[in-house]
Amino acid sequence: MHCPNCMWKDIGKIGANQYYCWKCCIELVVKGSTLSVYQVEEDGSLVSLDDVFSEAERESCIEHEQSM
Ligand SMILES: [Zn+2]
Repeated sequence: MHCPNCMWKDIGKIGANQYYCWKCCIELVVKGSTLSVYQVEEDGSLVSLDDVFSEAERESCIEHEQSM
């Protein structure tokens, strides 16, 4: 698993399928074979960034974890 934004691999796990990039302050949620990306606002609300990254980019983040 790595962050689709900064490519950093030291992603924190915050839930069964939820990960958090401390560098970008974005939340990564594994949904089947792909990933949803959310920006965490100061008030704790989540804003979807799925439009920012292509599906291939998001899928590749998961494949990296499986190869580790
Ligand atoms: Zn990041």
